[in-house]
Amino acid sequence: MRLDKYLVHTGYGSRSEVQKLVRSKRVKINDEVAKKPDCNLNPDVDVVKVRDEIVDYAEFYYYIMNKPQGCITATEDPRHETVIDLLDPIAKGRSLSPVGRLDKDTEGLLILTNDGKFNHELLSPKKHVDKVYYAEVDGKVVEEDQSAFEEGIDIGENKVCMPAQLEIIEAHEDYSKVYITIKEGKFHQVKRMMRARGKEVTFLKRIKMGGLMLPEDLETGSYRKLTEAELQLLG
Ligand code: URA
Repeated sequence: MRLDKYLVHTGYGSRSEVQKLVRSKRVKINDEVAKKPDCNLNPDVDVVKVRDEIVDYAEFYYYIMNKPQGCITATEDPRHETVIDLLDPIAKGRSLSPVGRLDKDTEGLLILTNDGKFNHELLSPKKHVDKVYYAEVDGKVVEEDQSAFEEGIDIGENKVCMPAQLEIIEAHEDYSKVYITIKEGKFHQVKRMMRARGKEVTFLKRIKMGGLMLPEDLETGSYRKLTEAELQLLG
């Protein structure tokens, strides 16, 4: 692989930016200063350093973010802050896209990757990866709501939603706390399912996808690379 292509892929900037970086002698291959941006290297064998830091090369990058409220799940937007705007310059340079979408006011587990096939497969209706949400709801959630979720709720589309689980954590006259597990990812699905039961969601956070829980130590607004073991849990 050409050095400039490698540096663009690993997040060090545009083609012209990385060419400048190489010409400024800040890039080393196996501890030798790289002479030209178009020299060739083997990413699996050669060690590349930029400003004496080892470059983290992978064909595909997988990140987990604890999305905060207030930003949108998109790669760019002229008016709103996006989840990509929260990344450091290197991660931002890795052409990551969010897997699925969380609403602007929804928090929680969001996967970001440059692996288009993985992204597509994880969202595929055929895969039916479970998504678990913690929700706070106006009003009292009752057993009939649980049965309705199990049976499949009509949210105004051609067919009812797939069966979903509604677990009550606390139910008071004026508010409730629940866990909701859905297999699909329809637009505003959780809020629309609750609204179909006459209740408004006031707070929503995704806490699990497949077998992967949102790590407790991943603060709202922060992100990191997924470990190999975590990646396997996404199924
Ligand atoms: N369901 C919703 O209503 N909103 C989300 O962000 C995710 C699921």
